[in-house]
Amino acid sequence: MSEQCVFCQIIRKEKEAYLIHEDEQCIAFLDAYPVTEGHTLVIPKGHYQNIYEIPEDTLAHIMKICKRLALDYQQIFQTVGLNIIQSNGIVAKQTVFHFHVHLVPRYYEDGLTLFRHAFTKSESNLTRALDKITAFQKEKK
Ligand SMILES: [Zn+2]
Repeated sequence: MSEQCVFCQIIRKEKEAYLIHEDEQCIAFLDAYPVTEGHTLVIPKGHYQNIYEIPEDTLAHIMKICKRLALDYQQIFQTVGLNIIQSNGIVAKQTVFHFHVHLVPRYYEDGLTLFRHAFTKSESNLTRALDKITAFQKEKK
């Protein structure tokens, strides 16, 4: 738990939120600044800053809840798609440093654009990245 963390305050019920799920490991609530209808955050009750800190079991549980909500939202909001977004670090535009997964329901012509600055496809960039990963994996064994 972190005193100043806004998500920890929501977990402790010191700050209001539109709570939609709670269990022993996590909570889910509506994002206060929704980009589409039903935009939801799923967060662990433990204060882990990011993907590097969160235990694998906690992460697996959170993804299970994401799956359930995704199915529910198909019926509740008649979603035609869903983005799952999770950001780590300032450079990745993380703004609250308590691990969270965004569920962003998608609708036809909802106007939302993601990944505008996509890389241009380059075989040499792909092979360089693959070489780095395979060398690391070989080293790790
Ligand atoms: Zn926190």
